[in-house]
Amino acid sequence: MKEAVKQNMRRPVVAGNWKMNLSRAEAAALVETIKPAVTLDESVEVVLCPPYTALSHVHDELRRSNIQVGAQNVFWERSGAFTGQVSVPMLRDAGCTYCIVGHSEARGSFGILETHEGSLSYFAETDRTVGYKVRALLDFGIIPIVCVGETESERGSGQTEGVIDKQLEGALGTLDEAEMGSVVVAYEPVWAIGTGKTCESEEANRICAFIREKIGEHADAESAEDLRVLYGGSVKPNNARELFAQSDIDGGLVGGASLDGPGFVHIIRAAQGNFLR
Ligand code: PEP
Repeated sequence: MKEAVKQNMRRPVVAGNWKMNLSRAEAAALVETIKPAVTLDESVEVVLCPPYTALSHVHDELRRSNIQVGAQNVFWERSGAFTGQVSVPMLRDAGCTYCIVGHSEARGSFGILETHEGSLSYFAETDRTVGYKVRALLDFGIIPIVCVGETESERGSGQTEGVIDKQLEGALGTLDEAEMGSVVVAYEPVWAIGTGKTCESEEANRICAFIREKIGEHADAESAEDLRVLYGGSVKPNNARELFAQSDIDGGLVGGASLDGPGFVHIIRAAQGNFLR
């Protein structure tokens, strides 16, 4: 484990993905426990991603703080007959500045309750639809947090890099250099999400460096150097510091552990402690 504080021009991000949890009152109570940690130290960008029903409430609760609000998904059309969908302008209206796209729990076959390797894949996301969503978000100035990552069997059969390269190409292949500067990528190995199995920090760093290298090939070296690459997959208070100390990991996308206020604050502190102000 590297203990040294990193010198990093990339402002790290710690994002909490609340998934399908919390009423508005519960969300407000959680926000109250997190706010003080960020008020005292702004070296890390903190993003809370509640379910749609709590978005604007959380945004109101976060007034007078530097914590950002993100959505967990979006549809790329601006308006129209798309029952059940939420558009980018609606996210703007609710106060969002970030949006997760391509989460592994949203990739899969719509309506088919297939389970693969214990992960949820009930929905319709593909590399192409992730690309549409990224484009729509950037058009309205919302920062996409693009999730990529391999399943356990893809890792087992040596396909990790190939899968991630294809996901990056689908999501970001049409972006120009300026647009690339407004994107965050999260490496989320599917087998580590919600399972308590964390990717070893050095291996997570290797894949995050691979993502940066691929962005360098798809776009340019400067975009790759400036790109913020997060790790997600069972980040907890007891492993965050080691993960965030890695040279190519610029923070975390945190699921389950973001629902516990003191634990999430501990994770934010781990990120704050790992980067020079
Ligand atoms: C996630 O949902 O993006 C995630 C990483 O979940 P967890 O931290 O619970 O593994």
